Amino acid sequence: APNLKIEDLRVSIEDKEIIKGLDLEINGGEIHAIMGPNGTGKSTLSAALMGHPKYEVTSGKVTFNGEDLLEMEVDERAQAGLFLAMQYPSEVSGITNADFLRSAINAKREEGDEISLMKFIRELDKKMDHLEMDNAFAHRYLNEGFSGGEKKRNEILQLMMLEPKLAILDEIDSGLDIDALKVVAKGVNEMRNPDFGCLIITHYQRLLNYITPDKVHVMMQGRIVKSGGPELAQRLEAEGYDWIKEELGIKD
Ligand code: ADP
Ligand code: MG
Ligand code: MG
Repeated sequence: APNLKIEDLRVSIEDKEIIKGLDLEINGGEIHAIMGPNGTGKSTLSAALMGHPKYEVTSGKVTFNGEDLLEMEVDERAQAGLFLAMQYPSEVSGITNADFLRSAINAKREEGDEISLMKFIRELDKKMDHLEMDNAFAHRYLNEGFSGGEKKRNEILQLMMLEPKLAILDEIDSGLDIDALKVVAKGVNEMRNPDFGCLIITHYQRLLNYITPDKVHVMMQGRIVKSGGPELAQRLEAEGYDWIKEELGIKD
């Protein structure tokens, strides 16, 4: 089963320290949520794990299935089974959604073991049905002219097609109406199995009404300051973050 282990991670952007000693461990079969006020470094964490060159890991250790993640190139991270949904997925002109997915799947496979076109189309149809996506999306250029909600749905389609070992979903819920939110949740819930771990990063609790996390972590000022079960997310929704700040003596 997959394992992501983050120990005392510190990350800087342009010499400013944003992540200030963060510990987190996620195993296969678990869904974790990180919640926290804006500007606390949630997206920085996700970008650092992705290997974004602008984010400098100054100390700490991250292993994925026992291997040093920080030593891996971006494509090696994907190859190892890590999936990172960007907060703002980019548009790619000239490549259809289906082409993109098929080459991404094949990039993860051995040469000579590429997915057959028939099998690919069957899988794609099945998963697009599950996500209530119009079949036309398969043949449109990647994310070009997609609405915010369509992009998010498309990210979940990528997730379901690529079947990573561990996914980090940063604000997959932002800007979604309730129906789109339910579809996104349905896709993530469908992925739940002992060989899949997931980190959901979100500012709001509402997605967690549809995806019940095993663990909820609160991030403030670059650290995880509190962890608990799903009830923690509900308390944050009801009471905001102030009670945690008071509890911990954090001033902002
Ligand atoms: P969150 O996702 O929790 O809202 P971010 O990780 O996006 O927080 O941002 C944390 C802090 O890092 C903020 O103060 C933000 O302004 C800063 N920051 C994030 N990305 C960059 C960047 N590319 N360049 C400079 N500062 C950044
Ligand atoms: Mg933000
Ligand atoms: Mg963010």
